Amino acid sequence: MLEEIPEPVIGKTVYSPEDVIVEVKLCGICGTELNIWRDGFPKSILNVKQVGLGHELSGVVIEAGEKASGINKGDRVVAEVSIDSCGICPLCLSGRNNLCKFASSFMLYQGAFSKYLPLPAKNVHKIPDKTSFEEAALCQPLAIAINALELRAKVKTGESVAILGPGPIGLCLLQIAKLSGAWPVVVTGLKADEKRLEIAKTLGADFTINVDEEDLFQRTKDITNFEGFDVVVEIAGSGKAVNQALDIVKTCGRVVLAGAGYHAVEIDASKKIMVKQIDLLGCRGDPTIAWIKTLRLLETGKLNLKPIISDILPLSEWEEGFRLANSRNSLKVLLQP
Ligand SMILES: [Zn+2]
Ligand SMILES: [Zn+2]
Repeated sequence: MLEEIPEPVIGKTVYSPEDVIVEVKLCGICGTELNIWRDGFPKSILNVKQVGLGHELSGVVIEAGEKASGINKGDRVVAEVSIDSCGICPLCLSGRNNLCKFASSFMLYQGAFSKYLPLPAKNVHKIPDKTSFEEAALCQPLAIAINALELRAKVKTGESVAILGPGPIGLCLLQIAKLSGAWPVVVTGLKADEKRLEIAKTLGADFTINVDEEDLFQRTKDITNFEGFDVVVEIAGSGKAVNQALDIVKTCGRVVLAGAGYHAVEIDASKKIMVKQIDLLGCRGDPTIAWIKTLRLLETGKLNLKPIISDILPLSEWEEGFRLANSRNSLKVLLQP
């Protein structure tokens, strides 16, 4: 539900001199928000006082606290979701600050589906001049894709990659895999994903597989010459896809689980992981280093992000936006406060 809240002012209420206030230009609807919209809040965050929705924002700094280092009024910016990490624990010091036990989310203070948003300056990043607010709103899905493929799977040139799930993050994974020199890069989806699989082809997928109508294992054999894929990323958020990933990865390959929102899933661990000597890698969120890499990748101009944005609606039409984002005919839906 939309509600009226007072405009934030630095130095008053909870906002400190290290904060900036961002006028939100656009904010994407993410799977997390769709899950909350459909199923209510997950138990893990039920004990917090409040949670605002919206975290994939781009905007302009309209006010900077006197200790907001490196960020000035007028800067065009994006922001990391995770804030409050301690900066001195082993996880923070090893580049995984989003998993620090003190890390929380700015959504616990206020969501980005709002006109003005206060944020700690150290979690805010300037975007390249040539990057539009629309493109910049995809920084968080891109940062997750970099975490999954580069930081977790450590994809190398000439490796084969399968991406299970052709949603916005799946299409970011596709582009990063291609830029890494992987070949072939394959995207899979359901029959309902036909439109998304078409877009995957235009974005450079070497093959796409509709798993409802094609035999995934036969296609994998054909494409990889009976080997299986070096790297498989599950981003469909489906327990079934977790097992598919383990089935189509090659012996000694890597599987990254980056999708969320599915229930407990049964895995024949001995047959699928031990015997094949698989590296099974979890991937959650987007550490600061993934954001820095994302922004440099935007500077290269080598990403094609416009096809991933399907709709832009005013915030007042958020319910229609959520309905669109929930359908597989759309991709990333952006709301404009
Ligand atoms: Zn997101
Ligand atoms: Zn820490």
